Amino acid sequence: MNTVFLSIGTNIGQREENIAAAIMEIEAGAGHVRAMSGVYETEPWEMNTAASFLNMAVKIETLLSPHSLLETLLDIETRMGRMRHGQGYFPRIIDIDILFFDNQIINDKHLTVPHPLISYRRFVLEPLACIAPLFIHPVIGKPVKSLLESCTDKHAVRKTGITL
Ligand code: ADP
Ligand code: MG
Repeated sequence: MNTVFLSIGTNIGQREENIAAAIMEIEAGAGHVRAMSGVYETEPWEMNTAASFLNMAVKIETLLSPHSLLETLLDIETRMGRMRHGQGYFPRIIDIDILFFDNQIINDKHLTVPHPLISYRRFVLEPLACIAPLFIHPVIGKPVKSLLESCTDKHAVRKTGITL
């Protein structure tokens, strides 16, 4: 069984419903959800839009390989109506990224694990630190909570009262 941390984000449409639907789809097809952070309202990061995001982190256990999991997650995004616009960041109905896959380090054309931007993004680190403060980043060698302490990202990240 593999332990995986995912980041989920949405800034289009019924954001709360998008998050809930993604979690149901993950449970149905990607793996068992073992922990969920709260839901955070976050300021768009390097994106030309005013529409704020809802973000959260989840821990799953899965028998899928890293690439099968990626394919499954991209398929969930597509079925939920995600459009891809080429290079760069665009508003999205749902984005599901693999943050950590056990302690594996993967760098190929399709997949980079750990996700390369974890330590630069407060909107990833805050929720992740809720459910995995002591998980050691296998490349950087530091626990998530110390990555959060040293993160210089100034974009606003606020915990909501949303319960799923
Ligand atoms: P982003 O999440 O960077 O805004 P997309 O969701 O459109 O962009 O993903 C683009 C591609 O990123 C995917 O097709 C996938 O192959 C690749 N990718 C590489 N590493 C990861 C990862 N750790 N998690 C999710 N996607 C990844
Ligand atoms: Mg993505």
